[in-house]
Amino acid sequence: MIIPKPAPAPEPARKISFVSLGCPKALVDSERIVTRLRAEGYELARRHDGADVVIVNTCGFLDSAQAESLQAIAAALRDNGKVIVTGCMGAEPEKITAQFPNVLAVTGPQRYEDVLNAVHRAAPPRHDPFIDLLPPEGIKLTPRHYAYLKISEGCNNRCSFCIIPRLRGDLVSRPAADVLREAERLVAAGVKELLVISQDTSAYGLDIKYAASRWKEREVSARFLDLAAALGELGVWVRLHYVYPYPHVDAVIPLMAEGKVLPYLDVPFQHAAPAVLRRMRRPAAQEKTLERIRAWRSICPDLTLRSTFIVGFPGETEGDFSFLLDWLDEAALDRVGCFRYEPVQGAAANDLAEAVPEEVKEERWRRFMQRQQAISARRIKRHVGTRQQVIIDEAGPRPDGWAKGRTGGDAPEIDGTVHVTSRRPLRVGELATVKIDRADAYDLYGTVVGY
Ligand code: SF4
Repeated sequence: MIIPKPAPAPEPARKISFVSLGCPKALVDSERIVTRLRAEGYELARRHDGADVVIVNTCGFLDSAQAESLQAIAAALRDNGKVIVTGCMGAEPEKITAQFPNVLAVTGPQRYEDVLNAVHRAAPPRHDPFIDLLPPEGIKLTPRHYAYLKISEGCNNRCSFCIIPRLRGDLVSRPAADVLREAERLVAAGVKELLVISQDTSAYGLDIKYAASRWKEREVSARFLDLAAALGELGVWVRLHYVYPYPHVDAVIPLMAEGKVLPYLDVPFQHAAPAVLRRMRRPAAQEKTLERIRAWRSICPDLTLRSTFIVGFPGETEGDFSFLLDWLDEAALDRVGCFRYEPVQGAAANDLAEAVPEEVKEERWRRFMQRQQAISARRIKRHVGTRQQVIIDEAGPRPDGWAKGRTGGDAPEIDGTVHVTSRRPLRVGELATVKIDRADAYDLYGTVVGY
């Protein structure tokens, strides 16, 4: 009798520890790298020690972000020793290798192949046909019910405080059909909310001359409006980030009023005073933004506007700053973030005008926050007594059916939340109709009245 030899025990899969820093655009890069690695049989490790290699996806936007990235690299070297660096800081590898000569490789942003090659060298893949089975939508690092959808890379603008075009290059738009097919795969996998991102969403398609591509037996052109309308057909929430107030953006507002895409616009205004905007070299700086906001709201009264601002930009005078505060009163934005200007090495802004002293920046930042908080608090109160569709992000095992979610006016991670109580337990990703009972400065509180 021949006794068959037992099959050799499968080798354990290689493990990768992954650190993803920076903005949602960097998160999408991380998702792509992780998807490819998982397809090749690698597993994700929870900790650096015990992993075969660590990948750090860095952010180079501000000096403080660069410092955080360098700290993450130092920690990975300390806890593991085998470290591959990618992302925005990888565009200037000498900054990393000067401090950490023993990193295994440094690759620039979106250099997925280079990252994978470096991983193969450090920890060759072990083939396992079971691990190789991958969900078609890829691996997402966000919770299952929402996903970032990157529609382009790079940027054609040259804002004087920003080095992203130097790090990531000029605008490269994806064909509309490509974006739509990715969106369909995500929706088929259970995603309920698509967050459209890029460096300048309103510039989408400019580089490819708005070329049409085939989707669902028809041609869809690579235009901001056409893409938004097509995404709106997928039956999930569609949220638009990083939109500049160009005239052509007006055309998307009726889609919001009709409920095709969320009545939400994330417009990074950064300032309002014409002299500062000119020095910042902001896109759409010449547009009459207050008039535009008024017109948008007259078409879609439910519109939520989010923005970010920089105070203490070089050469900002007290007059410029007061102009900004008055503008805030008029604009009555819903959600606002404010940063004190921080010089970024290599940015043109540093040499444009005299730096604003730190204590002045600090004082302006406080005045700005105070003024805007009052505006935001007033805006959020308008929801009290209304019924809102809420997407559930967190649901607890508590007997009162407590859960946390967001209205269409709240983007995940940056805006407010709705605390809800419900007669029956809610599921993450579920949409519920909530009667809003009260509001505080940032959040809403309500009761579920419909499932
Ligand atoms: S729009 Fe301006 S701030 Fe945004 S990535 Fe482009 S250059 Fe940078």
